[in-house]
Amino acid sequence: MSGKSASREEKAARIRRLLATEGESVERNTQGFNRGRYEAVAELSDYEGLKDEARAIKEDAIERLPELIERVRESVEANGGTVYLAEDAADANRYVREVVRDADAETVVKSKSMTTEELEVNDALAEAGAEVWETDLGEFVLQVADEAPSHIVAPAIHRSEADIATLFEEVFGPEEPLETADDLTRFAREFLAEKIREADVGMTGANFVAADTGTLTLVTSEGNARKSVAATDTHVAVAGVEKLLPTFEDVAPFVELIGRSGTGQSITSYVTFLTPPGDAPTMEFEGEETEAASEVGGENDREFHLVLVDNGRTAMREDDQLRETLYCIRCSACLNSCANFQHVGGHGFGGETYSGGIATGWEAGVHGLDSAAEFNDFCTGCTRCVNQCPVKIDVPWINTVVRDRLNRGAEGNFDFLVEGLTPDEESGGLDLQKRLFGNFPTLAKLGSATAPVSNWLARAPGVRALAERTLGVD
Ligand code: SF4
Repeated sequence: MSGKSASREEKAARIRRLLATEGESVERNTQGFNRGRYEAVAELSDYEGLKDEARAIKEDAIERLPELIERVRESVEANGGTVYLAEDAADANRYVREVVRDADAETVVKSKSMTTEELEVNDALAEAGAEVWETDLGEFVLQVADEAPSHIVAPAIHRSEADIATLFEEVFGPEEPLETADDLTRFAREFLAEKIREADVGMTGANFVAADTGTLTLVTSEGNARKSVAATDTHVAVAGVEKLLPTFEDVAPFVELIGRSGTGQSITSYVTFLTPPGDAPTMEFEGEETEAASEVGGENDREFHLVLVDNGRTAMREDDQLRETLYCIRCSACLNSCANFQHVGGHGFGGETYSGGIATGWEAGVHGLDSAAEFNDFCTGCTRCVNQCPVKIDVPWINTVVRDRLNRGAEGNFDFLVEGLTPDEESGGLDLQKRLFGNFPTLAKLGSATAPVSNWLARAPGVRALAERTLGVD
């Protein structure tokens, strides 16, 4: 058995395992989000127009990115905050560690942020001795389980209520049994409220950052981002540079689209606009007291740090074929509408950080092609996701481009079979299986045009075994 086929078998075994262990929860949740999306976008009078508007804003913002970085620096500094442009993950983590150290912070509370997952901030802070708590319920479950997210919006989508109940019982041994979703949520809420009270630093991501005002837009289901910021003196927001929009007005179409596209909600439960540092007094918590009147009363010595992360994004911007990835608002519509993702979830169809079809662009850009190679062929190029994307990203095309790049240099002598099946003319060697499926419509056309011959060939003795061995096609 060749090494290549062994690795295919390993991959198949892993997929079967995921289907058996996580498939049911992933399918139920993604299909629910997907149905909700159809209903929520149907409420819009001009859905297509809104998508065009959002796309145009993102194209303009990425085109003007260097100017917007300077603009937001001026705005945030005028508001009393600091902007740090981090070159890569190590640089961003070093800066965040310094802020946490300067604040003498023992506890840091975080709201959900895929960018901090990308940077692995939690590990960096733990190494520096800080206790870090995820306050988003899904992220908290994963932190307790020591697992990676399986979805960019709903990170614990692969876990059922019963799973989570068992996990909490094992880890926390609560006095009362935790049986229902309400019990679990209440338990996590009380546990995290305590951590929020103890915390000195609150970390958030940002869905959008308005360059003209320095305003962050945070879209959450639980309101934990605003709690983490309000309850702590020092706020660190970590955002990829692509989150910048030229003006605060530009945020409006995205607020209309993001919740509808992702979880199928007309509007997400909490949409928070923060222009930090805020001018509310910081909170002093005494013992178990939680009455508002006893919580407020500290000096207004709030600090704000906006960490803008490059980590490969400038190179993506300069790459004509990967640039489109930067328009992504990480809504998850392409994941939820993908038949493959609906079954296997992000632990199969995903890389180091990101999941789903668009993860190929993100992983190739921020972690490198090798990370994308692990899961890139889960995209079959069916194009179902393209119309669901609120910024009209051609996700299958990005997958085709990356797949082609991955396969250059591979051995093979069947170029005549894949002529015209790759995104551009130039080509080195090839992996036949991947290249054959690199452009599904052309392959289908070829099959239809030669139907009598292909059918005869397919039935001929030994052909299927040969095709499987050489092309990986059964
Ligand atoms: S590619 Fe489009 S649909 Fe997919 S997560 Fe990004 S914005 Fe949403």
